[in-house]
Amino acid sequence: MIITGNDYVERLAGYKREIYVKGEKIENFAQHPNIRPAINAIAFTYDLATKNEAYSPFSDLVGQKVNRLNYVNKTSQDLIARLDYQRELSMRTGTCHYRCPGSDAICSLYPATKALDERLGTDYHEKFLAFLKEIQSKDYACTGALTDTKGDRSKRPKDARDMYVHVVEKNDSGIVVSGAKIHQSGAFAADVNFILPTQTFKKGEEEFALAFAVTPEDQGIKFVLQNTGYQAKFREGGSFEPGNFKYGDRLTCTVIFDNVFIPWERVFVFEDLEANRHVLTSFAVSHRCAGAACKAGFIDSMIGAASLMLKANGLDKVSALRQKIGEMVGISEAAYGIAIGAATKGREDSGVHQPNVLIANAGKVIGVDGLNKALMNLAEIAGGIPVTAPSEFDLKNPEIGALVEKYLSANPEFSTEERLKIIKFIEFWATSSHLLGGIHGGGSPAAAIIFLQIMADLKSREDAVRDAIDLH
Ligand SMILES: Cc1cc2nc3c(=O)[nH]c(=O)nc-3n(C[C@H](O)[C@H](O)[C@H](O)COP(=O)(O)OP(=O)(O)OC[C@H]3O[C@@H](n4cnc5c(N)ncnc54)[C@H](O)[C@@H]3O)c2cc1C
Repeated sequence: MIITGNDYVERLAGYKREIYVKGEKIENFAQHPNIRPAINAIAFTYDLATKNEAYSPFSDLVGQKVNRLNYVNKTSQDLIARLDYQRELSMRTGTCHYRCPGSDAICSLYPATKALDERLGTDYHEKFLAFLKEIQSKDYACTGALTDTKGDRSKRPKDARDMYVHVVEKNDSGIVVSGAKIHQSGAFAADVNFILPTQTFKKGEEEFALAFAVTPEDQGIKFVLQNTGYQAKFREGGSFEPGNFKYGDRLTCTVIFDNVFIPWERVFVFEDLEANRHVLTSFAVSHRCAGAACKAGFIDSMIGAASLMLKANGLDKVSALRQKIGEMVGISEAAYGIAIGAATKGREDSGVHQPNVLIANAGKVIGVDGLNKALMNLAEIAGGIPVTAPSEFDLKNPEIGALVEKYLSANPEFSTEERLKIIKFIEFWATSSHLLGGIHGGGSPAAAIIFLQIMADLKSREDAVRDAIDLH
């Protein structure tokens, strides 16, 4: 089923959740100024899917149309359609749309549970398919939580048990888990949170090798929101002062599991090291491929802002600055091209079309460099004003407003308020969570480089050079 953004918001508002913002437990979370923009961004995923057939494919599993992000990719074309959807979402919202890790979780649990059952004769895949049917037919928004708090990183998980989500108890009806996941994008605003492993584990660490799903009825889950300067800005109000005032900053939270009971129907990997590795590596590759398309969309948003800023400043005829936009376009298309390449050169894994491992990981490395470079160009184009401008409140103040209006004006084709809106949007790009989110979201570049080092075929490259220089 395909629902509208409004349907999703109404459903979400009915959930009882324990959410903390800036030290306070909040009521009516769907209307909170810090949470509402993330909900708007997710709602936008629904509305866009209703407008574009490629984003709402037919699923054989439920015999109806479903959201592209809840779909199991069977071909490279399926995956490419998802990448296009994500690029467009990133460009139009200028923020995270939060459902991407959910999509990666679906496309990694599908093959991992299938392979697990083939190896052990268990019924995890059947349980997963039953749950996926529910997700698809109700058009749930899903997120993916991998990152454990880890504590002292020099210790193995078994020596820092509480810092990793682990099994506390198991009985005939399910398992009880404790621990916490950090940096969780939009978990508080989703219908389903997939909880996946943060890393591979060794023999003796089976209690951490878990994958399961939590739903709003589960008891003992606490969400603690991030609190950066942007969240303070959103609480301060104003109609456009926070820059990306509709869709907000990339909003994450810490999710604490305080002895949470999970029924067996929603446990998809249980204390199995091989399946744990399968889920983790499939997720990482899928997420890094999608991340490159997502970064292309973010850079597209920066390009739009840069182009408007040039016009608002009366600088749009200056070729040195226009060249910077050309460079940004090149970077965006390159990041997108890598994602498409990874999808096109992908492979089949237990019924799912997965991206090419090396190309997807290259997407992470190049995407991060590209995002940084694009941000730098945007900053050069915009001048210093995104971090020095007066506020919307000064512009509207009866005493100083007229003077702010006069001294912040530039190209008469743009009102001062319009110019200030563009400035605030660029401030958002330069100072929000985007830079660190781009670097670390989906795993830090270091993690992608480890994949590249391990998997690269150095021998064939060495042999090519040996042949070229007659070295035998
Ligand atoms: C905005 C944002 C959104 C995110 N959304 C999600 C989400 O939705 N779901 C989710 O699960 N996670 C999410 N993440 C988490 C992200 O995957 C992690 O930030 C990333 O994996 C790095 O983990 P860390 O931040 O805990 O780094 P740390 O563990 O604190 O490490 C710090 C640095 O050291 C490096 N490092 C650590 N150990 C080693 C080692 N042994 N060898 C080499 N380098 C090492 C790390 O790569 C990192 O660069 C998000 C992060 C951000 C910033």
